[in-house]
Amino acid sequence: MYMNVFDRLDATVAFSDEERMLIDSVRLLARETIMPRAERYDRSGEFPWDNVRAINELGLNAMFIPEAYGGAPMSYAAYLECVRELSKACASTGAIWATNFHAIKPLIDFGTEEQKQRLLPVMVKGGLAALTITEPTAGSDATGMKTQFRPEGDRIVVNGTKTFITNGAHADLYLLFGKWSEIEDGKQAISVLVLEKGTPGLKVVREEDKMGLRASSTAALALDGCRAPRANLLGRPGDGLKILLASLNKSRPSIAAHALGIARAAFEDAVAYINERKQSGRRIIEFQGIQFLLADLAAELAMCEAWLWHVARMVDGGAQDFGVEASMLKMRASDLAMRITTEAVQLHGGYGYCKDYRVERLMRDAKITQIWEGTNQIHRQFIGRSFMKK
Ligand SMILES: Cc1cc2nc3c(=O)[nH]c(=O)nc-3n(C[C@H](O)[C@H](O)[C@H](O)COP(=O)(O)OP(=O)(O)OC[C@H]3O[C@@H](n4cnc5c(N)ncnc54)[C@H](O)[C@@H]3O)c2cc1C
Repeated sequence: MYMNVFDRLDATVAFSDEERMLIDSVRLLARETIMPRAERYDRSGEFPWDNVRAINELGLNAMFIPEAYGGAPMSYAAYLECVRELSKACASTGAIWATNFHAIKPLIDFGTEEQKQRLLPVMVKGGLAALTITEPTAGSDATGMKTQFRPEGDRIVVNGTKTFITNGAHADLYLLFGKWSEIEDGKQAISVLVLEKGTPGLKVVREEDKMGLRASSTAALALDGCRAPRANLLGRPGDGLKILLASLNKSRPSIAAHALGIARAAFEDAVAYINERKQSGRRIIEFQGIQFLLADLAAELAMCEAWLWHVARMVDGGAQDFGVEASMLKMRASDLAMRITTEAVQLHGGYGYCKDYRVERLMRDAKITQIWEGTNQIHRQFIGRSFMKK
């Protein structure tokens, strides 16, 4: 079988037999079931419940949950590959599933035995989770959040508003960040708890009508005197910032895998199109100006994917200090997804501007990857600062 440079790169990633079997099932599901529905969901903006059900039939949440709580854990590399494959087929569905990991990993890493025994089975059974940080006046500077956690006996009373929360309208569990009322210093006060669906006072105020990822739910939430059990607090009051930073390091490579899924889809569509489409009696790919562009895009994509697997190996190898690597990956993969999807539209000419071709959607879907989980300006600042002498 002919293998191109990307197939050869993929083949270098060391997955176990069990992981390969699961990845093959995810690829099949993505190609045969999820991809054909993506256009319809993009147009309707409906939440893709049948995709979520299909993912749960494969038991996919189990791959990041420890065995002791009913999961069947696999490597971080295998997780990233599943995010990339699902996102290549439908960026909304990829984001919905990846958000489960982003929101639940801190519970796995920082939760008590009792919390994990009680809450993780919700996810094993196919639950949805939401990472709930951003507020209307606290975006890039999340430490400016105002949501208040006030202790009251064996409860914590939560008041505040959150915005732009992925899975926000449908989540079973919300990993919710706020400030402990008894700690004065703003950053020291940041704390985190798990809020369960149906808690009185938790209201979905609106869902955004977005440029891309139209089938994913992005919700504004009101927290109006919600009473969460004190037993749902992760760590101690004031541990939130530490947990937030550790969690983002693990979710940013996943954001990159999402972006690279979108980029791969656009690259493959563009290559297929310019091999077919003829002008001036020649296929578009035969024009040297186009070959130069393709060479630049392909080389960038190969380098970025190689860095994805480098970061995955670091995480799977137990590295603790990989924040700069994760930032570089998120920034570079998302800028590249935007560039490749834009060039893919260009390579389709006028047809690329019309909804009959998938590249139109991919370009809209790619944009969010430069904005969320730290805008790329924030990542540039963080990477640059890492070289500043103390
Ligand atoms: C579809 C979608 C899904 C999302 N999902 C989630 C989610 O699940 N959970 C969650 O908590 N949040 C989520 N977010 C929020 C997202 O993480 C924020 O939108 C993002 O962090 C930026 O914050 P902001 O929108 O308030 O922009 P702002 O922080 O107001 O930034 C505006 C502009 O100023 C720039 N800027 C800000 N500060 C600096 C600086 N110091 N230096 C240079 N430039 C700067 C930014 O880069 C940006 O270009 C989501 C957002 C969207 C749109």
